[in-house]
Amino acid sequence: MPGSNFKEKRLDIAEIFVSLQGEGAHTGLPTFFVRLAGCNLRCQWCDTVYAQKPLNKFFSLSEILKLWEQRGCLPFIQITGGEPLLQEAVYDLMKQFLARGATVLLETNGSLSLKKVPGKVVKIMDIKTPSSGMEKYNNYSNLAYLTLKDQVKFVIADRRDYDWAKETLFRYYLPFYTQVLFSPVYGRLDPRELASWIIRDLLPVRFQIQLHKFLWGNRPGV
Ligand code: SF4
Repeated sequence: MPGSNFKEKRLDIAEIFVSLQGEGAHTGLPTFFVRLAGCNLRCQWCDTVYAQKPLNKFFSLSEILKLWEQRGCLPFIQITGGEPLLQEAVYDLMKQFLARGATVLLETNGSLSLKKVPGKVVKIMDIKTPSSGMEKYNNYSNLAYLTLKDQVKFVIADRRDYDWAKETLFRYYLPFYTQVLFSPVYGRLDPRELASWIIRDLLPVRFQIQLHKFLWGNRPGV
């Protein structure tokens, strides 16, 4: 806005793209993805290493909204990272999309408070398993902000992770107030093995595989 002190909020972005939602309750739906740059964790099996550090590729909120409009105003938005909650302007971005009637999914590593996330946003929160090396950063007070529309995700690399996730599931009574996802680390744990453990233990969790990995390997989409 020329001649004023107005400075539009900006976000450091790793990538913006359209693809099929690869995980969780919205799997398979065409989705507009906004991946923010920068992460406060360093998971052993991170599959988005390119988004761990700030990239200084700034987009204003109106530029992001314009890209969304150019891609047909898809009703499903995923805000991911990196860790999206590290950037203050992400709250305004979520509100802008909600105001336009979109369903907003927020994927977060679970280490930062969810307190300021608008209630209508679908929160997909990691609980980091031992194999990630980041288990000590889990912020369990965030569980108070989750409801049945939200999801917690355990990414499981081996039997030790599975046993730990199972114990955590019951310690916090997770399936009583939120959805629970168990997902194998791609290329490290055979999905059939994880599926058989879940069935044998009659666990009230959703088994999932990362659809996009099976379609396109490590690329996010076509
Ligand atoms: S929290 Fe996510 S982006 Fe950050 S290091 Fe772990 S897997 Fe990678």
